Amino acid sequence: METVQNFINGQITESRSERFAPIYNPATGEQTRQVVLSSAAEVEQVVAVADAAFPAWAKTSPLKRARVMFKFKALLEQNMDKLARIISNEHGKVYSDAVGEVTRGLEVVEFACGIPHLQKGEHSANVGTGVDSHSLMQPLGVCVGVTPFNFPAMVPMWMFPISLATGNTFILKPSEKDPSLALELAKLLKEAGLPDGVFNVVNGDKEAVDVLLTEPRVQAVSFVGSTPIAEYIYSTASAHGKRCQALGGAKNHCILMPDADLEMAANAIMGAAFGAAGERCMALSVAVVVGDETGDKLIANLTDQIAKMHIGPGIVDGTENDMGPVISAVHKAKICDYITTGVEQGASLLIDGRNLVIEGHEEGYFVGPTLFDNVLPEMTIYKEEIFGPVLAIVRVPDYQTGLDLINRHEYGNGTAIFTRDGETARQFSEDVLAGMVGINVPIPVPMAFHSFGGWKRSVFGPLNVHGNDGVRFYTRMKTVTSRWPASVRLEQHTSAFTMPTM
Ligand code: NAD
Repeated sequence: METVQNFINGQITESRSERFAPIYNPATGEQTRQVVLSSAAEVEQVVAVADAAFPAWAKTSPLKRARVMFKFKALLEQNMDKLARIISNEHGKVYSDAVGEVTRGLEVVEFACGIPHLQKGEHSANVGTGVDSHSLMQPLGVCVGVTPFNFPAMVPMWMFPISLATGNTFILKPSEKDPSLALELAKLLKEAGLPDGVFNVVNGDKEAVDVLLTEPRVQAVSFVGSTPIAEYIYSTASAHGKRCQALGGAKNHCILMPDADLEMAANAIMGAAFGAAGERCMALSVAVVVGDETGDKLIANLTDQIAKMHIGPGIVDGTENDMGPVISAVHKAKICDYITTGVEQGASLLIDGRNLVIEGHEEGYFVGPTLFDNVLPEMTIYKEEIFGPVLAIVRVPDYQTGLDLINRHEYGNGTAIFTRDGETARQFSEDVLAGMVGINVPIPVPMAFHSFGGWKRSVFGPLNVHGNDGVRFYTRMKTVTSRWPASVRLEQHTSAFTMPTM
């Protein structure tokens, strides 16, 4: 059985740990590899390596650091097919979706290529007579990324390109469910010219993460995953004096107005609810429909489209499937339990994905697209993140009731409105309590040069990932105030004891 190891100081490094976690191909249910679960002592060694590599990398000019990013971008493009296949085989998502994920990560690398401009700081001449001020945006030191299973390429690339480009060293702790891609990224960074020790991958579970959260040499922690863990990461890292951004779970609602282009909205909702088997933090899991007529029309359209969906393995010869399996047998069982609970609590189950069997892939972790109508806010399937291909339809009499519903939910990652009315859309984007808003756009994921992050219990910490927030997160500001008198010798100097006001 092949073992996925660590990448430390520029090379694949065999762990001495005797703890391992299995890795499966979700389309077949077969174990394909195992991943090492590093010990606390091993993680401390990785921190020491990243700490030792920091001074030289921090002093490397931003232009040279950007050139590594340019080469890394080219290598990502050259290796796209290989990377997408690794993702599809370990995660289960369909091949084109895996290509899409790498592409969204690559866009952050492109953004990081502009670091000489982004890290310039500010300058003011003559803040007082003959006195100038300028700010330096200096790197922090050892930064850490702890990432979820659902985007093994994109989420790490939300973090490390900007962290590295700004002059930090980085330790990535990928999800133990699909860790192989992280090692490929590490090898490509080395090939791009990144010095050894600047980027490291350490595999493991809570034992490894806890060292990274408490080790004094770690300066900053970026986390993406479920809300309970995000909250734990944020409170522990902060209590140990580290900067932390921790992105959590979601329950993204869209609101469908009666005047919307229904066909366009239904197509958008299909992709956003069932793409990647609903395992996206920006998946639409609740459709709030205004008016019964709108609800009936939407259901008719979705029912038709669901019947035509192709579900199967992520990589096939010929026509690609629309949806692959979910990540694990445990997760499949959890999703099916949610569906059962929805029925028990009185929601109308219109399409049931629980008993789907794919011929030739009987042991795969497949759950079919599932559609509930008449879902109420007190039901478990409304309140909790299911993270599977389950869409809940909530009927409301008017726009305001729908908006109030969205705003009362504990999560506030993304949301969307479908309407032809500009004023309603404008009002919605102003009043809705969520971090990312789509207007006739179902999954409003900001581009790399903007920042990604939710509101409420979907995020912990003030700065979002990538874009300008990312640059701010991975740098600290130092403001230098300087004075060069024309001739120090000629001036009369006296002591001043009041607050300088220039
Ligand atoms: P998870 O919280 O189970 O795991 C995320 C990471 O935390 C993994 O690397 C895991 O090893 C580590 N971890 C797990 N338990 C831990 C513990 N007790 N102590 C320390 N570390 C621990 O999440 P997941 O199942 O891999 O990913 C799915 C979740 O991620 C969903 O809730 C989804 O909404 C969320 N997500 C959010 C975003 C976002 O941008 N907000 C993006 C992607 C995924």
